[in-house]
Amino acid sequence: MTGPTDTSEFVDSTALALLHLRCPRCHTGKLFSYSALNVTKFAQMPAQCPDCGQSFEPEPGFYFGSMYFTFGFNVATFLVLGVAIYYLLGNPDTWVYVSIITGATVLLTPVILRYSRALMLYLFGGVQYNPNWRQHRRVGASNED
Ligand SMILES: [Zn+2]
Repeated sequence: MTGPTDTSEFVDSTALALLHLRCPRCHTGKLFSYSALNVTKFAQMPAQCPDCGQSFEPEPGFYFGSMYFTFGFNVATFLVLGVAIYYLLGNPDTWVYVSIITGATVLLTPVILRYSRALMLYLFGGVQYNPNWRQHRRVGASNED
């Protein structure tokens, strides 16, 4: 049995690296600098991977496209919660739907934003997993600062 700090099991799996919000190239560097619970900094990403030096912004404005993923996640949230409220609470008044769904959407914003950006980078960033990234570090990569 492995604990939550054991990272060796997801190193080769792109899906698990995405789930853990790791760099698409090395699967070890973190995509985000702060925790999702940090209300003011949850969206901050380093300019490049702290481990392998891969750029996290392939072009200016790259993450504008992630709003489509955000839209999809929010629609899914609306649908799942709407159906759950309907069946679990016996079709209550409209304000109950609005309150619960609005509250959940606000609370899920950091999670949804981070996964939307990660999906954008994994699907459209043109970055391939390179298990030998240690031998082929990107120019300018450093462990300082
Ligand atoms: Zn990396």
